[in-house]
Order: sequence, then C-alpha cells, then structure tokens
Amino acid sequence: MDRVVVVGASLAGMRAAETLRAEGFAGTLTVVGEEAGPPYDRPPLSKQVLTGQWDADRIALPSGAKPELELTWERGVAAIGLDLAAGHVSLADGRAVPFDGLVIATGAAARWIPGTRAIPGVFTLRTLDDALAIRAALGAGVQRVVVVGAGFIGAEVAASCRARGVAVTMVEPLPQPLSRVLGDVIGRVVAEVHVEHGVDLRLGVGVEAIEAGDHGVERVRLSDGNVIAADLVVVGIGVIPNTGWLEGSGLTLDDGVLCDETTLAAPGVVAAGDVARWPNPLFGEVMRVEHWEHAIDMGAHAARRLLAWAASPSDPALDMAYGPVPWFWSDQYDRKLQLAGRVRPDDELAVVAGSIEDRRFTALYGRNGRVVGAFAMNMPARVVKYRQAIAAGLTWDDALQG
Ligand code: FAD
Ligand code: NAP
Repeated sequence: MDRVVVVGASLAGMRAAETLRAEGFAGTLTVVGEEAGPPYDRPPLSKQVLTGQWDADRIALPSGAKPELELTWERGVAAIGLDLAAGHVSLADGRAVPFDGLVIATGAAARWIPGTRAIPGVFTLRTLDDALAIRAALGAGVQRVVVVGAGFIGAEVAASCRARGVAVTMVEPLPQPLSRVLGDVIGRVVAEVHVEHGVDLRLGVGVEAIEAGDHGVERVRLSDGNVIAADLVVVGIGVIPNTGWLEGSGLTLDDGVLCDETTLAAPGVVAAGDVARWPNPLFGEVMRVEHWEHAIDMGAHAARRLLAWAASPSDPALDMAYGPVPWFWSDQYDRKLQLAGRVRPDDELAVVAGSIEDRRFTALYGRNGRVVGAFAMNMPARVVKYRQAIAAGLTWDDALQG
C-alpha cells in the first residue's frame, strides 16, 4: 500500500492519519477536508466558544500542525465521488485522487427544519463558523433565544446562553431532555437542572413553524398553539451522516457507512467516527456513535485495520473486532454529565452513589442481568471504573451488592 487517502479532516480522520504514521506507514498520505481552515475540536463550540471564554485559536487539533506527519493536504474541497474499481476519490474541483487504501471519516451534518435555513437568525451548530455566527448574534444584543430540540446541542446551547444572561425557551417533543440516550428518569433530572437555571422548558410539544419578519426570525409557533417570541433560534434536532458523496460507490449506506466488526467497509476501505456504523460485538448491536472519544478510538482502530488489510488482504482479521464501551460527557451549567455504555428507555435503573436531590450521583442501567450503562452527574471517577467493569461483563446483581 503506497497511497492512503483520508476523507474528512476532523477528529476521526486526523487520528487515523496520525496512527498510520505512528504504525510505520511511509507512503503518500492525503487528507481531504471540505472545511478550509485547520482541523479543530467541536465540543468547545457549544460551551466555551459560545460563552465567549475561548477563541477559535484555542480549539485547533494539534495534529493539524505536525509537519512530521508529512500530509498532503486537500483542504477547502469536498470529495464528491468514490470509484472503488479505479481506486480514486473525485473532488469537487474536478480532480481525482488515487488511493490503495481509503479512510472514510466525513462525520455528520446538522439536520434542519425544512424551509427555515434561509431565515436570518435561525442557526444549527456543527462547525466553527456556526458557533462564531451564533456568538456574534448573542453579542449583538439578542434577548430571547428559542432552542429547538433538547438533545446535546439544545441542552448545551441553553446552558451557554443562560450563562450569558439571555432568556431561553427550549422546546422538545419527547417527554424529557436527552431521553433517548439517558431514559426518562435521568432525563427528568436534566430537565430540573435546566428549569433551576431559568430555562422555560416546553416538553412533549413540537414546532409547527418558525416565522420571520422584515429583519429575520420573530417567533416560533408550537404544536400546542403557543407562540414564543424569538430574536434567535438554534435548531438541535440531530444529525445526518455525510454519505452523499458515496452514493453509487457500491458501499452499503444505511444511516452511515456500514462496516464489518473490524471497521472494514470494503477491501482497502475503512470508516470511523460519526459516519460509521458497525456491529459492536460487546453489545451485540449494530451502532453508530456520535461522540468525541469514539471518533478518536475508532479512527485509530480503523487505521490499524487498514494496515492489517494491506499486509494480508485475504485475512478476515477477526481478532481485530472493534468492541468499545461508548462514553461521552456533557457540560451543562456547573454539572458534568457522563455516560458509559449503551442505554435503552426500558432498562432497569438504580442509583448506586450520591443523591439525585444533590444533583451529584451515579446510576446504573441494567438489561438481561448485565450492567449496560453507568451515568454520573458530577461524579466522574466512578464512570471510569464502571466503564471497565461493563467491558468485563459486570452482572446487575454483583453491581448492586458491591
Ligand atoms: P466530524 O467532526 O463531523 O468531522 C467530519 C469532517 O469531514 C468535517 O470537517 C467535514 O467538513 C468533513 N467532510 C464532510 N463531508 C466531506 C466531504 N464530502 N469531503 C471532504 N470532507 C468532508 N462529543 C462528546 O463526547 N462530548 C461533547 O461534549 C461533545 N460536544 C460537541 C459539541 C458540538 C457543538 C458538536 C457539533 C459535537 C460535539 N460532540 C461531543 C461530538 C463530537 O464532536 C463528534 O462525535 C466528533 O466531532 C465526530 O468526529 P468525526 O471526525 O467523526 O466527524
Ligand atoms: P441529538 O442529541 O440527537 O438530539 C436531538 C433532539 O432533538 C432529540 O431529542 C430529538 O428527538 C429532538 N428532535 C428531533 N426532531 C425534532 C423537531 N422537529 N423538533 C424538536 N425536537 C426535535 O442531536 P443534537 O442535540 O442536534 O446534537 C447533534 C450532534 O452533536 C449529535 O451527534 C451529538 O451527539 C453531538 N453533540 C454531542 C455532545 C456531547 O456529547 N456532549 C454535545 C453537543 C453535540 P427524537 O430523538 O425524537 O428525534
């Protein structure tokens, strides 16, 4: 393998590139990225960048400025096609980049409410440009923000806007914030934390329309008939994996790029990060994970898998199955939320340390006699411990006795 192309110059792609070099790949390593600027980290966008504590230069990914990686950059240009038989990636400027090995790390894009994209004052938050535009609007005297969706973006944007003293209404069709990832019991605790910090939380209600006047957005009309005045609206209703450029390539696209257990999507092609779906053997579930540490770990794993494929293309490399316990954190106000594992709404739940009333506790999720998740609010060390135990197969009974 002499030429590797990485498409997607962000967390998963840059970690894949670093790992390829660290593991001895000495050939041409081309990184294609649609964003024109240097690679950066997204978590601070909804937190320190939005509150104004950090500027853009603080969030650069170190790997974007390491000459020793000897990367050939194709920045500010999107990949628009993949020809597996010819072995090249087509770029939007008409060029084709040949490869022997390919890493797909194109992440995901924010989902929009149809018909609202052109309204001044309505934003999604995925890129640095998005964050800087929202921050500029907040700095220009915005008084009333409506956040649509109480998932991660919604909850963190609401917290950052409250930190700036702006009035926030958060609208969510589900019964509780973050209820798909945390379940309704913990979701209710998150709801209470937001209400305690002054958020006007509207649960179990959808958005009928976002309406504009001459100067941009003016109000949000809800499905329960209420109308909320708004100077700025941030829509956080989930993401769509960036697979459009792979249509017709022959890869299996199904809510992301479908990979095998080892992250291989086709001979000589691996995928990693938000864009990749694969059967996680530890959970017996085909999953796509949209979190920071996962993008890093899967990017490194996919790079090693590609090198193993190059060394021995016919070896199924079953010992390279990728079976992590997913993990994320989210900062909201003075609370740090963390979850290790994969949770379903009907899992058993038990608080095993601290207390919900104090907003400092650890809770476990169980299914079929096993612990499948550990959540903590302001108790970080415990999640680390439980994450290892979940990987080792901790039973529900042992966890509750210990
Ligand atoms: P991305 O970061 O989405 O990068 C994909 C890159 O590919 C982008 O630069 C994109 O421009 C490029 N690209 C897309 N299509 C093409 C194409 N056709 N050609 C070339 N380039 C292309 N996770 C946590 O665990 N904790 C947090 O607190 C947290 N906070 C977050 C806050 C925000 C505001 C956001 C948006 C995400 C946050 N996340 C957090 C999630 C985490 O940042 C993502 O899971 C991670 O960025 C995924 O990395 P990735 O490399 O797979 O994809
Ligand atoms: P998300 O976490 O998937 O949450 C989206 C929320 O919006 C869900 O509760 C969803 O409900 C709801 N929703 C969907 N359609 C809606 C509509 N029309 N009106 C109102 N609400 C609607 O996605 P996100 O918050 O937009 O985050 C985007 C990405 O950034 C994700 O990949 C996320 O993981 C990442 N991110 C992560 C963190 C973190 O890990 N700390 C922080 C910020 C961002 P349904 O489930 O019913 O669709």
